[in-house]
Amino acid sequence: MSETGFHGRHTWETEESFQEVMAEQLKKAPWLLVSIVVHAVGIFLLWNVQWEAPRISVDQEMAVEQTMEDEQPPQEEPEPEEEPEKEEVQETPEIKDAETDEVNEDEVLDDVPTDNQDDSPFDKDAFNDVIGIGGGAGGHGKYGGRFRRGRRRGGGKLTKQALRDALDWLARHQDEDGKWDTDGFMSHCTGEKCTGPGSPIHDVGITGLALLAFLGDGNTLRLGKFKSNVKKGILWLKDQQDDEGLIGEKVGQSFMYSHIIAAIAMCEAFGLSRFRLLRRPVQKAINYISGARNPYKAWRYYPRSGDNDSSVTGWAVIALASAKSFKDMGLKVSEDDFKGAILWYDEMTDPNTGRVGYITKGSPPARPQELMEKFPASKSESITAVALMARFFAGQDPKKNPVMIQHAQLIAKKPPVWNTKDGSIDMYYWYYGSFAMYQMGGNYWRDWNQKMKKAVVDSQIHGKKCSRGSWDPVGAWGQEGGRVYSTSLMALCMEVYYRYSRLIGAAR
Ligand SMILES: [Zn+2]
Repeated sequence: MSETGFHGRHTWETEESFQEVMAEQLKKAPWLLVSIVVHAVGIFLLWNVQWEAPRISVDQEMAVEQTMEDEQPPQEEPEPEEEPEKEEVQETPEIKDAETDEVNEDEVLDDVPTDNQDDSPFDKDAFNDVIGIGGGAGGHGKYGGRFRRGRRRGGGKLTKQALRDALDWLARHQDEDGKWDTDGFMSHCTGEKCTGPGSPIHDVGITGLALLAFLGDGNTLRLGKFKSNVKKGILWLKDQQDDEGLIGEKVGQSFMYSHIIAAIAMCEAFGLSRFRLLRRPVQKAINYISGARNPYKAWRYYPRSGDNDSSVTGWAVIALASAKSFKDMGLKVSEDDFKGAILWYDEMTDPNTGRVGYITKGSPPARPQELMEKFPASKSESITAVALMARFFAGQDPKKNPVMIQHAQLIAKKPPVWNTKDGSIDMYYWYYGSFAMYQMGGNYWRDWNQKMKKAVVDSQIHGKKCSRGSWDPVGAWGQEGGRVYSTSLMALCMEVYYRYSRLIGAAR
């Protein structure tokens, strides 16, 4: 393993420094806390089991955020119920101390000392080198001013609490060996068992997805309330990797999905934690993705099979873009992969409707055969959302590529609605739609966000049961992925306000 070339301060010193800087900034601008720290109090509607009066509703919260977005002076922000700032600032020394101990006794994963603090994905001013994430239709300036205000653009205390409960649920249902057991997670339940097993062949992908939910909220191998969950999970994924770089086994039609999602999780864990011993496994995983692409085209279920589809391709682009964002730490990606993906999406786009097809031009999203009727593809624009997101991550800009506006207009017509009767629930769509519309900004984002928050927050399980904090795995892919899948995806939706600003937007 090549470990030379990294000299400088110890990572925890970097992090300490970051924390100090942040604490300093917070003292100067305590109103920033409202959205910087994902801690808040709230009570939520419980889906389909019991209803409790929420302290505030999503609509009320949106009204508050509307005010925030309109650039009101800090002192006018009407969030009287927000937690006092002092409590959050006090977290800084605790994290620092704990981390020093943790890192010192860590023999499994070495650290990557770095003096390159400017490249930290947590550096709020590093957004200028976003890899191609352009301003968007509603942007204010090149990057829409989005990252600078990333943590307050559309989130709120309801989403914070929803996210906190979701991560708690995920943490409670992780296996001791680090994985999430798609069909056996209920062995961890206390009291009434949670329902919603998925297919056992998805453990690698589902574990990757759950880890992304933790990583997206700032938990790394070193930092955060859930760092031990992240560490266990990442080590488990690493153990599943074979000599070719593939994470998991070559079974079924989903192993590329699983591999790619796991690769993104390992990549983010490596990059955000700066653990150099993960660099080689991550690079091998990325190389496997790159090597699986069809020449001049895109990706499908099997490596270089000659077939392509827009869904696997989207995940692949995200993985490669994630690796590219950590190239300062030695990860390498090929620009040809991004070009191939864009060519594929261009080929799949119906120029009249702006809709992106799954395997043929302009066709509706894919569905498991037996669920076609229950979850009509006409209720979703999931593939178009995947394509829009992938275009951003492959370096395209709506200002130069008006087809992206067409995509967004189409997506805007089908915002998230939680209706268990009409077959419109599609968490995979909501996940990609949320991240894509966030990048679009402006009214696209504002309108989508309002609907998304309502659909997601209101449908989370509330109460005292073991399933508290999770989401029922309804929707087109719920049976496949199960409750861990649905809860991970919805948690990721609650992180849209900062996740990629932080991971992609802030890194090079
Ligand atoms: Zn449970």
